[in-house]
Amino acid sequence: MLANSDFAAFSRRARSYRGRVPSAELRREELKAVWQQAQGCVTCPQLASTRTKVVFGAGNADADLMFVGEAPGANEDRLGLPFVGQAGKLLEQLLGEIGLTREDVFIANTLKCRPPGNRDPLPGEIDACQDYLFRQLELIEPRVVCTLGNFATKLLRADPGTGITRLHGREEIRRIGPRTVRLFPLYHPAAALYTPSMLEILRGDFGRIPDLLALPVPDQPEPEEAELVVPEPALAAEASTPAPEPEPEQDPMQLGLF
Ligand code: URA
Repeated sequence: MLANSDFAAFSRRARSYRGRVPSAELRREELKAVWQQAQGCVTCPQLASTRTKVVFGAGNADADLMFVGEAPGANEDRLGLPFVGQAGKLLEQLLGEIGLTREDVFIANTLKCRPPGNRDPLPGEIDACQDYLFRQLELIEPRVVCTLGNFATKLLRADPGTGITRLHGREEIRRIGPRTVRLFPLYHPAAALYTPSMLEILRGDFGRIPDLLALPVPDQPEPEEAELVVPEPALAAEASTPAPEPEPEQDPMQLGLF
């Protein structure tokens, strides 16, 4: 979870470019700072003690299209990259069918750490991790956000009661933090892997993404108004796990991230 001091520093810099469009370079620098912060996150003691790597997300830090999955699995945890297993292969294939590659988009997850045994994310873990995702959305500035499966859909729609079966393939304009995006819920590729009928629905929904990307950017809130609604990240909860030693400064680009 982001510490308040980091958030304050970002807000100061954000104010300094109010009224101007922050460059992709500046936004990537901020994203790098958030990534660095996430590397040492121990807010969820169990996840922090069982993960191998924090899986922050990867791809184009200035992407028009962003995907948000559920949580890293075993392969992702080992490599520190999202969607590198079978579900990732399917995601890449579906992207290829609409003329895109992983490098064109940004892929992230609702949780940045693998739940042990691939259990479902717990509500407290989703709460604790959500600021990272909201900051990613704020800094990458995608125009279309595809949620993959129930967890990401329920979080970004702020509606835990409506599931993906009802919502998949129905785009909507949604305010998320200080920005407005086109949200496009999709079935999770892992669910489609073994259910041919679901794969065909997912493929059909995917086929609509190019049209959504071609639509005008949704109207954005006024920056002043936006500043008021940026949620102040909660202070990191007292964690019983000691913070790991800070790692030497690395560049996410060298790690194949963004
Ligand atoms: N499933 C997810 O939701 N995310 C990953 O990164 C991999 C599989």
